[in-house]
Amino acid sequence: MDSPIPKFAARLSLLSPVESSLVANPPMPTPAIPGLNPVYEDYARCVHCGLCLNACPTYRLWNLEADSPRGRIHQMIHVAPSEIPGNVHDELPLSDSFVEHIDKCLDCRACETACPSGVEYGKLVEHARARIERDYPRPWLARVARNFVFRDFLTRPFLIADVAHLLRLYQRSGLQAIARSIGILKLLGLAERERLLPRIDDDFFFDRFGRTYQAIGPRRARIAFFAGCIANVTFSDLNEATIRVLTANGCEVVVPKGQVCCGALAAHAGYRDPARELARQNLAVFLHEDYDAIVTNAAGCGSTLKEYDHLFSSTEAEHPKARAFSKKVRDVTEFLAALGLTAKLAPLRHRVTYQDSCHLLHGQEIREAPRQLLRAIPNLELVELPYSEICCGSAGIYNVTQTETSLELLDEKMRHAQSTGAPTIVTANPGCLLQLRAGAALHRTNQQVLHVVELLDRAMQS
Ligand code: SF4
Ligand code: SF4
Repeated sequence: MDSPIPKFAARLSLLSPVESSLVANPPMPTPAIPGLNPVYEDYARCVHCGLCLNACPTYRLWNLEADSPRGRIHQMIHVAPSEIPGNVHDELPLSDSFVEHIDKCLDCRACETACPSGVEYGKLVEHARARIERDYPRPWLARVARNFVFRDFLTRPFLIADVAHLLRLYQRSGLQAIARSIGILKLLGLAERERLLPRIDDDFFFDRFGRTYQAIGPRRARIAFFAGCIANVTFSDLNEATIRVLTANGCEVVVPKGQVCCGALAAHAGYRDPARELARQNLAVFLHEDYDAIVTNAAGCGSTLKEYDHLFSSTEAEHPKARAFSKKVRDVTEFLAALGLTAKLAPLRHRVTYQDSCHLLHGQEIREAPRQLLRAIPNLELVELPYSEICCGSAGIYNVTQTETSLELLDEKMRHAQSTGAPTIVTANPGCLLQLRAGAALHRTNQQVLHVVELLDRAMQS
């Protein structure tokens, strides 16, 4: 209950203007971050051993403790401890430097794989980012751009299609060539980002929503295909190839209508509300029918879909639904390796190397399945890529927000890829495909970059 004394004191001008305004307009209580939030023990599991340091791409680049997993956890625990039940540390402000070190993290989760103590770093950094978005005033332009991308663009499929139409016009009309040749992109500081722009498809995969593709031969499984968001306008061919491979191996494939972006990009950026709303829509669409599995060809999406229950606290009605949903989610490589390939694969006399996608290896702990599928192609030579477990620099929209660091990581990746002598780099995530294709173009390596299922599809068509 409000005490009458401060109001009385304010009327007599006994309080400063700021205090008076606080009395007149008491601050709104800070809204809690929705969903599952870490507790003190989640941070305290870090015993500062440092075994994660060499696995961390940013620490490897700069040798700075503040840009290591251990250093970032240390900073998180000192920022507003009242947010973390059980925390006894002193409170430090949400400073520019804290935001910078958290922004520079790729959320690649390589530190989770390396950690012997079981620190779930992804959970911690996503909570730190949600706090930043709630409490830290980013510069105006950054705020507007981030709000547009995470609240509007990714949540509305028609907007993705509209923007893609404009970009296709830019790419096909000659405008792109003109913009590149007259140097306007350089002038605007957009040259590097523009080079990462994917080619927009002629036909969008959105048109396939609502279709069912019959199994070839006896039906072995009935699956729902999760098509992604931007992949519907840039990776339609990959999605088609995935369906061909699945149907050829005895799967009936349903592409449920009404599915939306998985919410990974929003959740990784700290925008939990839009991520939760997207999850609600996908839960309604994919739990409407019973499928043997919900399959995705995007490791980044799969990792978030498998953790939908993290977006809802255990008391929310969506939580049990999210758990039921997540249990059915499979990466396409994981699903096919477990099901076993039955389609005939022609020999491909070719040398390839495989780049692990962070959210497949570190986010889902899947290392063997893609390699197993590649080894199933007769005559295909698989050469291990040195440091394939280190991020290529794609990391969601990291290549757009932290372009310089992303390109540094890409340089190193392309050096290692060239050292294998493989003319083809294979990976398992559309974001990595884009990044590595940009790398091959920038470094003029002449290497083609394919998804595992695209290579299987080629072997099936030969
Ligand atoms: S390996 Fe795990 S316990 Fe050791 S410093 Fe890194 S996060 Fe902490
Ligand atoms: S998520 Fe990746 S970049 Fe971030 S601290 Fe862990 S290893 Fe380093």
